[in-house]
Formats: sequence, structure tokens, C-alpha cells
Amino acid sequence: MNIALIAHDKKKETMIHFAIAYKHILENHTIIATGTTGRMIQEATGLAVIRVQSGPLGGDQQIGAEIAKNNMDLVIFLRDPLTAQPHEPDILALLRLCDVYKIPVATNIATAEILIRAMEKGEFHWREIVRSCNSCNK
Ligand code: PGA
Repeated sequence: MNIALIAHDKKKETMIHFAIAYKHILENHTIIATGTTGRMIQEATGLAVIRVQSGPLGGDQQIGAEIAKNNMDLVIFLRDPLTAQPHEPDILALLRLCDVYKIPVATNIATAEILIRAMEKGEFHWREIVRSCNSCNK
């Protein structure tokens, strides 16, 4: 499965703790992350991470493009709801695409933990079916 990991600055520490705690699951999947989040996860865990641009420089849009291509199975986007972000339109666009393509998305750590545990239990097999069915997402 392809998992996107994104964290705003004030949530990066939480994301690192998440990646360390669930490394045993994440290492069995393909991790795609925005620039800084990805670098920090790599450094803290040694996980292989495909890094796109930093969020404010277009990374959220790059991940959105992968969602539109039906290449993303889970998005964990730890947002900071208390700080204005210069790339707010990109954030909203990414979350909108998750809804368009019915991609499981967590925007806080509580939901992230539920989703990653569900993935470990094999509850994401339906994504393989959707991915192999070109008309399922229309
Ligand atoms: P970053 O981007 O991982 O490069 O900091 C995340 C974001 O702010 O969207």
C-alpha cells in the first residue's frame, strides 16, 4: 500500500513518534512524504521515504496528484489547526481529493492510530480491488 505522511511544523514531533511507534507496519508499505516531514522520518526511523517538495512549495499538490491517479491508499496529514498556513488552498485541495476518491485520511493523531491499526489487520484489502478496477473511482 502507498501511505502519504504529512505534518505541519507543530505536529512534526507527533509524526516522528507515530513513525517510530508504527515502524513495524510502515516498513511493509511505500511511504511518500512532503519534504521536511519525510527527511525527519527518515532520520528518526531509517525508513525508506519517497520525498516530494515541501508542503508550501507544492508537496501537498504532488501528493494530491497521486491521489487523483488512484495511487494513494492512506493519507495521514497531521494538521496544525491553530496556525494559519500560507498554502491553505493546497491543503484544502488535498483533503478534497481524498473525499473525491474515497481515500482514508487522518488529520489528527487519534484517527491516524485507528487507521494504521486497521491497515495492519488487513482492513484495507478493498483498496487493492479499487486500484485494479479503473471504473470504480468514477
Ligand atoms: P513539510 O510540509 O513536510 O515540507 O514541512 C508539510 C506542510 O506544511 O504541508
